[in-house]
This record gives sequence, structure tokens and C-alpha cells, in this order.
Amino acid sequence: MTSTGNPLAIYLHIPFCHIKCTYCAFNTYTNLDHLVEPFVRALIREIEFSAASKPGQHAGTVFFGGGTPTVLSPEQYARIMNALRRGFYLQDDAEVSLEVNPSDVTQAYLTALRDVGFTRISIGMQSAIESELRMFNRRHDNDSVVRAVSAARRAGFDNLNLDVIYGIPHQTLDNWDATLRQMLALKPDHVSLYALTLEDETSMKAWVEKGRLPAPDDDLAADMYDMATDQLGGAGYGQYEISNWAKPGRECRHNLQYWRSLPYIGLGPGAHGFADGVRYSVILSPHRYIKTLEEASESPGVYPRTPVTAEATLLRPADEMVEVLLMGLRLTQEGIHRETFRQRFGVDVLEAHGDVIRKYADHGLLHVDDSYVRITHAGRLLSSMIFRELV
Ligand code: SF4
Repeated sequence: MTSTGNPLAIYLHIPFCHIKCTYCAFNTYTNLDHLVEPFVRALIREIEFSAASKPGQHAGTVFFGGGTPTVLSPEQYARIMNALRRGFYLQDDAEVSLEVNPSDVTQAYLTALRDVGFTRISIGMQSAIESELRMFNRRHDNDSVVRAVSAARRAGFDNLNLDVIYGIPHQTLDNWDATLRQMLALKPDHVSLYALTLEDETSMKAWVEKGRLPAPDDDLAADMYDMATDQLGGAGYGQYEISNWAKPGRECRHNLQYWRSLPYIGLGPGAHGFADGVRYSVILSPHRYIKTLEEASESPGVYPRTPVTAEATLLRPADEMVEVLLMGLRLTQEGIHRETFRQRFGVDVLEAHGDVIRKYADHGLLHVDDSYVRITHAGRLLSSMIFRELV
């Protein structure tokens, strides 16, 4: 267990991709296939450093994200999982997730991952419309999503997420409706819907700035969000976070750890972690990450730091409070439990941030009662404005 009494969540970042998608600003690199095996060895060393700096920790979730985690073989995952089991008490019912590119997976690959201990698959569907997938420079088509879902089910995965994106240039409500219907026809256990954001240094942003693509239309995106909310609710999915819906009991435990501001460690180039009040990030460059771990001395760092920690900040309680608010308000059903907040910080959330909370409650964007502060349906569409003001 951690100092909060909660098991740890462990995120591992796999920083390789076959090609760069036009909207993507994640820390990923193409044409580094020759670094995959040295990276796996380095990641195992980082796991060992992290575990040695605070022995005996329990972990309830493990999440491999990227990047494209499917560039690693089942044998490489077996070695990484063994290192995690040596270093941490991985709970028997641990949720172990992998992000999957639909065109990369076969039933044999996914069956091997099940044998290694994976319990949950997250498939990057993104859209059912071929022209939108081409605009994103995605390598897959709609048929490969269907095949990936079928392969995952046959491999025994009963916890499957689909990611899709809305608010895409040129996307119409009819196109979005088609993507939603196709997504629901695949019967995922969980869905994540992301509004497209134009990130710096992406092709998509450059095209919009040069006028080659129209800018995303916020009003249309809001209509798409409403349409999705209706369809998902009608299909039996419960919304539990601004961008996430699940069948009962299929909420993503790993991401809930983030939204509840509970401890997690991040391993791999560019990963972030938050544990023992310290927020930290790992160095970005895979080359430097590997070299640093190859040359690191045996002595563990001061938890949660490792030899590849780039930055670490001990959060002041006031900063941690804001973090808890920003993350907790994303949880549409849970929200902020006022008593839990008071126990954590010794102050009621309305004493700490009453001005902003009361203002948005008066506008109908937040709901406050004796026990909780929650975001309303109207507030979900304007959450970034509320979050900016809290910061
Ligand atoms: S596959 Fe994922 S991580 Fe890789 S470039 Fe595309 S969106 Fe980014």
C-alpha cells in the first residue's frame, strides 16, 4: 500500500510509432525500431530502481500507453511484467491495460498477452469514416477495427475500450452519427470520446493556420457531445467522467486513480508521476533514457525519483488542492466528496475555493450540496473555462 493506504497505479510509456499521426503531440518517435530491445532492458532497470527506492508497495493497476505499445512482442511484455511482479505486490485482480493500434494485432498476439497477464485492451478506433482516418494519417481502416475487436474477444478479453475523436475538421453530424453507431455495434465495455484539440507542432495545427483545413467548430463539437451522450445513455453506458462512459463495473480503474488524485508512478520516456506529494516527469529522449539507465549506479534514488527523472516538484498543499479539484470535477458522478477533501487538507472545499465554486454554481455549471461538489451537464461542455479559473 502507499502512504494514502491505496494501491499504486503504474503507467509505462512506450515511445515508438510506425508513423506520426497529424494531430498527435505525444512523446513518440518513428524509425527507432533498433532501440526497442535496448529500451525494454532500460525500462526493466527503471522498474527495479523505482521498486528499490520504496520496497513493498502494492499496485492495483498497470497501464501501457504510448506511442504504440504493440511494437513490443509478448516475450518482451513477459519480461517487463516479471520485473513489475518482482518489484511490486501486484494485486491478484490487478487491471493490466494495453493501448492497441487496430492494424497491429492478431488473435495469437492478443492471446499471448492474456497469458502474460493483460486484462484490458484499449483500441484506438478514432473514427469510422475513411476520409477522417486518412486526414489523421492513421494506418488502419474500419475493417481492421472490426478484426481487432473480434480478435480481442476470441483471445478472451472481456474488458475492451474504444477511443474515438470528434470535432474533426469537415466532420458532419451525420459522419459522427455513423462513427458512434459503428462503435456501439462493436459492443465495447468502455468508450472514451475525445474532442480534437490542435496541439502545437502538429501537422493538423499547421494546416489550420495555413487555411488548408477549417478550424474545429466548438458549437458543432458541443452538438456532437450531446448526440454521443444521448446515444451512449440509450445503449446502457454510464458516464462517469467528462470523456468516458462504461458498462457497469467496467470503469477504467487506472484512470480513476488519476482523477481521484491518488498516487501513480510513470515509467518510460516522457512519463509523469505523482507520489508522496511529488509530481515528476521522466526525460523525453529515448536515446538519453536508455544511455542514462545503462550507466546508472546501483543505488536507488529518493522515491519517487529514479536516475531518469527530469523534473520533480514537491507540491505545496495549495497546489495539490487545485489538482484534486481539477481532476475530481472531471468525475461526473463522484465529483468532489467534501468530507474526503476536508480529511485530506483540513479545510472544506468551499472555504478553499468558495468564490469560483459559488459563481459557477449560480450559473448552473456546478452543483453543490452538503456532501459533494459536482459538475452539471451544462458544466461538462464548459469545463475548460471552470478549470482555467480554478488554476
Ligand atoms: S499512433 Fe498514437 S501515439 Fe502514435 S502518432 Fe498516432 S496518435 Fe500519436
